[in-house]
Amino acid sequence: MSDLTPSERLSKLRAVEAWLEWHLGDTRRKIAQVEQQARVVHGYITEQERKAGRPVGVTIHVADCDRIQHPVAALDATKAQYALLKDSGFNHACEHCRPDVALGITKPES
Ligand SMILES: [Zn+2]
Repeated sequence: MSDLTPSERLSKLRAVEAWLEWHLGDTRRKIAQVEQQARVVHGYITEQERKAGRPVGVTIHVADCDRIQHPVAALDATKAQYALLKDSGFNHACEHCRPDVALGITKPES
């Protein structure tokens, strides 16, 4: 690098800086994914989905999800997993708390 001009060195250093920034962001995304998988879950909560006042399905949340407005029933992990796998047309995983990821049904996006 010593036989490079200052302009060439600066260009190379900027490329290294950009790569390091990308790598840091990628590592932080992976940390967030693993934290989501590793969190301690204390049960699951069902909530009825309604459209125009009519029931159209059930959302399943992790029990501590802050999006739960009208909880209906508490489920253990086995029942929540069964509900999401066996009747996926009616039961949906909350997109905020991702019980499907906590239960190992869905892998987090990478
Ligand atoms: Zn939720």
